[in-house]
Amino acid sequence: MTDKEQMSLFDLTPSEVPLTELPKADGVAEAPPAKNTRSAKNTSPATAATVPVSEQFASLDALREAACNCQKCPLAPTRTNVVVERGDRSAKILIIGEAPGEQEDLSGLPFVGKSGQLLDKILESVGFDTTKDVYICNTVKCRPPNNRVPTEVETTTCKPYLLEQIRLVDPKIILLTGATSLKSILGEKLGITKVRGQWYEWEGRLVMPIFHPSYLLRNQSREQGSPKWLTWQDVKAIKAKYLEIIGTDSAVDDDEEF
Ligand code: SF4
Repeated sequence: MTDKEQMSLFDLTPSEVPLTELPKADGVAEAPPAKNTRSAKNTSPATAATVPVSEQFASLDALREAACNCQKCPLAPTRTNVVVERGDRSAKILIIGEAPGEQEDLSGLPFVGKSGQLLDKILESVGFDTTKDVYICNTVKCRPPNNRVPTEVETTTCKPYLLEQIRLVDPKIILLTGATSLKSILGEKLGITKVRGQWYEWEGRLVMPIFHPSYLLRNQSREQGSPKWLTWQDVKAIKAKYLEIIGTDSAVDDDEEF
């Protein structure tokens, strides 16, 4: 498969593009130190990286049940469903988006609208199986009205669920899609266009910010240096790091052209 053909795998056909869309497994080696990796540690209460032990969940099932009954922030009254997760709960890659959109609110699953379809295509373009290789969630679990950006109160109130998802899934790699998840995990002084594609070390995990798929839907160019082209470079780097972490004996689908 040529580079051009590979990149075309995460195109949506024109009819699929929305007019408006806002935006530890056994035997696995520890993540090796990444070259050119920056460290990021959050220490303020709003960006704390762990949940007190007394407030931790025993399992992802317990977390899901609590979230589905949660009334802690102003998003609760207007939601249809609480959107907690999709993918494999033991995946090595955890992807964090912003918030549920309309389709996610209706289905109860994250990233199932047009952005989610594009995210799957991006991952599949380098051979990831989105049902086995990744776990996907959002910064907040309930849909903000009219797809507005979640407020500071909403992201802060919902953050313990996110931190517990990270602890319980225990991924080696975390991908932050878009500015909201970037702000929630790494801090607020980072611009997505400046930091996308860079590896950060956060709480012993490798973290990479990437463009949100909805941004790519609005920027269809595949020219060198375009957001889509940059994302393609990022997903290839992610696959390379993933293969490095799991080792060559893994049965995970490989991309021989990678
Ligand atoms: S967004 Fe999070 S904190 Fe707010 S009601 Fe939903 S689950 Fe609870």
